[in-house]
Amino acid sequence: MNIHEYQAKELLRLYKVTTPDGKVAQDAEEARMITKEYGGKSVVKAQIHAGGRGKGGGVKFADTPDKAVELFKAIQGMQLVTKQTGPEGRKVRTVFISQPIDIARELYLSFLVDRGTSRITILASTEGGVEIEEVAEKTPEKIVKVAVDPALGLCGFQARQVAFALGLEGDAFKKGVVFLQNLYRLFVEKDCSMVEINPLVVTKDGDVTALDAKIGFDDNALFRHPDVLAFRDLNEEAEEEIDASKFNLNFIKLDGQIGCMVNGAGLAMGTMDIINYHGGSAANFLDIGGGATEDAVKNAFRIILQDPAVKAVLVNIFGGIMRCDVVAAGIVKAAKEIGIKVPVVVRLEGTNVEAGKKILADSGLNLIVAADLKDAAVKVVAAVK
Ligand code: GDP
Ligand code: MG
Repeated sequence: MNIHEYQAKELLRLYKVTTPDGKVAQDAEEARMITKEYGGKSVVKAQIHAGGRGKGGGVKFADTPDKAVELFKAIQGMQLVTKQTGPEGRKVRTVFISQPIDIARELYLSFLVDRGTSRITILASTEGGVEIEEVAEKTPEKIVKVAVDPALGLCGFQARQVAFALGLEGDAFKKGVVFLQNLYRLFVEKDCSMVEINPLVVTKDGDVTALDAKIGFDDNALFRHPDVLAFRDLNEEAEEEIDASKFNLNFIKLDGQIGCMVNGAGLAMGTMDIINYHGGSAANFLDIGGGATEDAVKNAFRIILQDPAVKAVLVNIFGGIMRCDVVAAGIVKAAKEIGIKVPVVVRLEGTNVEAGKKILADSGLNLIVAADLKDAAVKVVAAVK
């Protein structure tokens, strides 16, 4: 789960990680009041779950309270297009008014979980503000990587190593070390999967502060963080994904033509690979997981079929805990209640597979039965073409 910048900054403050003052303005008058409070100047920032807002016109400087009113009106409700939103953009529903900061240097800092080493890893670069992907590509030597041993936590020498790599000196160096240690504590205690501070700013007064903040959380740990869950903004999530999550299903939208109903993320990956290998591409995948009921399977089908990009469906189930007869009954139910207008290829294997195949055969539905995974991929790609 991701959260907005203004919410991420609330968490930063909670952990004493320095960040400029800022408040959400509910209306233009409030934008004026907040700007007055900040001495007549402010930065007006669109809140969407995507980066690159500055370049897209979603971060603007107000040098008077009147200007803040004007910018608020322009940004609130706008369809903000950035590199990360896709061409359709994202509607701005929340506007954050930030106290302006005099920037001396813009740095880059992020914490993430490196799956290769299974460690929280700090990435730091003096090349902040700009796109870090570009730095990684053109000047990778400008990115410093420090992996943290989970048993030891972030050690003093490591925090100093990062602060040094960021070119911090004197007071800013000391503040940078404290900043890193507090941020590490936040990362671990809140079960984050990613924290990105871009830019991390050194001010003209030698302060170190998070001008921007992006935080992602491990969904599997959200149950123990109701405070974080309260930050969830359904407007920022794909409608189908919310719909699916109501039935404990995982739906991921992709940009191909074949809808995939599978059980287990690993099987989903394998299914997509083999579809690609045979010249097709997945429109989405819906993972029904282990214990789905007939009704959940029906809803899974409904959600897949709602996607207009879907030209055929591949059901690929390896029954373990999930029983093939339950899946078959769910498919039949979906066909009867919603109707299925695209070709459906079914590959069932595992627990109660014979019972499942019988349910499908007796249903009178026009399904394409596949002998194995390869056969299924070949048939569904052919069905699309
Ligand atoms: P992003 O474009 O979505 O990453 O949004 P950011 O919050 O990172 O803002 C983009 C850029 O706006 C930053 O890199 C800064 O250069 C600039 N900016 C944002 N806030 C301030 C501020 O308080 N003072 C100054 N001088 N520049 C700011
Ligand atoms: Mg930024």
